[in-house]
Amino acid sequence: MRNTYLPFGKPNFGPEEEAAVLRVLRSGWIGMGPETLKFEEELADHLQVPHVVTVSSCTAALFLSLLVSGVGQGDEVIVPSLTWCSTANAALYLGAKPVFCDLDPQTFCVTPQEILAKITPRTKAVIPVHYGGYPVDVEEIRKVLPREVVIVEDAAHAFGSRYFDGKRVGASGNLVCFSFYANKNLSTGEGGAIALFGQTEADRLRSLRQHGMPTHAWNRFVNPKGMVVPSICEVGYKMNYTDLQAALGRVQLARQPEFSQIRLGIAREYLSGLSEMGIQFQSGLDRSFHARHLIPVVFEEKHDRDAILGSLRERNIGASIHYAPLHRMPIYGHGDPLSLPQTDRIATKILTLPVSASMSPDDTRDVVRNVREVLGV
Ligand SMILES: *Cc1c(COP(=O)(O)O)cnc(C)c1O
Repeated sequence: MRNTYLPFGKPNFGPEEEAAVLRVLRSGWIGMGPETLKFEEELADHLQVPHVVTVSSCTAALFLSLLVSGVGQGDEVIVPSLTWCSTANAALYLGAKPVFCDLDPQTFCVTPQEILAKITPRTKAVIPVHYGGYPVDVEEIRKVLPREVVIVEDAAHAFGSRYFDGKRVGASGNLVCFSFYANKNLSTGEGGAIALFGQTEADRLRSLRQHGMPTHAWNRFVNPKGMVVPSICEVGYKMNYTDLQAALGRVQLARQPEFSQIRLGIAREYLSGLSEMGIQFQSGLDRSFHARHLIPVVFEEKHDRDAILGSLRERNIGASIHYAPLHRMPIYGHGDPLSLPQTDRIATKILTLPVSASMSPDDTRDVVRNVREVLGV
């Protein structure tokens, strides 16, 4: 038993983050402005992509990406079921139908075969989720898709992941959506971004995130020569990012190598301390392509996952569940009892161990010791 509660995913903020936020506060300009533009440039440089458009969340990023891809009423969007509700909701916001597909039992991610099984003439898009930070092979998925079907990647877990060709997740040429939510690998409290190659789509995203205003209009209040009364080009949304968040984000981006080492250390400690105990880890967990946003484990049939979770929580270990499968929730069910055998099996046995860049080696050892004790080994 630990004396203090170990939270599931606590961000690592230090004096540099504090100084950055103060600098923006004192500048008098906390909305979207120069910090946001610099953060976007730095992200584009880091990911090696021509365009990064920041938005208010990954949920907004997914929604806007489907929107600019032409997804609308009656279209089908293939998504995994073992994911956060945002992945499916992005389709629903546009009147499209999320169609759930099964996953691979080793990677916990969608595969080209499972996607292929769900394609119909109405399929307009696929949203692969790089679950936990494991990179889905989007090139292999591209090969099985009809040409007109777009791929929008849910990379909420995958800041720091790499595709199998070594490029950073984000640089596939698809619309790739990141989350900067509180517990994500790069944390700014809230926030998201879309990495992409197309100039036209980037321009439209920049406009849509701010009421459909022309992109130069954001600074109409600060620039004495730039006073423009914007003409609204299309009905947009209020889904922009802010300079306060961007200032945090720029520091968090620079600290990614440090954070990634901490996550790797935690993964290695879990792998060595908990292997050969009837616990299955996600494949690739200790490989450099994996961002280790989550460290999910799947227990054997004989184990009661909910009882283990309860015991760990009583011992102050903030284990968690990612996720309750969406296809089993009535709101996504469309009335037909869908069976996804791998997802159904994994979903009752999966549990996520605490992992964050603010964990110490002692915290990690506490988790290993308590899991072993709960399992009675
Ligand atoms: C966190 C998360 C999102 C949503 O991110 P927000 O920035 O909170 O909107 C979407 N998909 C997955 C898989 C996530 O984990």
